[in-house]
Amino acid sequence: MVHEGGCLCGAVRFKAEGEPINVRCCHCRACQRAMGSPFYARAQFDLSSVTITGPTAAWPTSDRIERVFCTQCGTRLFSRRRDGSQTGIALMLFDDRNAFSPTLHHWVSEKPDWLELADGLPQYQGQASA
Ligand SMILES: [Zn+2]
Repeated sequence: MVHEGGCLCGAVRFKAEGEPINVRCCHCRACQRAMGSPFYARAQFDLSSVTITGPTAAWPTSDRIERVFCTQCGTRLFSRRRDGSQTGIALMLFDDRNAFSPTLHHWVSEKPDWLELADGLPQYQGQASA
């Protein structure tokens, strides 16, 4: 199975083959700042199963992760492991926004006070284990 998606302007397109490793919402400060949003909902894939075309650049936000964005429109696309093993793909970039559903929330200790999570999914104060 192949799921396709892209950025707001359409210059960046991607294809992700197979099933994701996991699908999670991360509420950590790095994800909040990188996305400018209360949390980052993403599907994690082996980088080898993702094909990307178009103009991108990356900014390292930790020793492990860099954030990839479209250099034309600025859409935040991926949280890519710097060792090249895996990448997170923001869920709302898939052409089918219901293609994947998160299974948990982690780093909820960092979520803003006004955000109430009522979806019944497991919540972890810190990092959920693999
Ligand atoms: Zn773009």
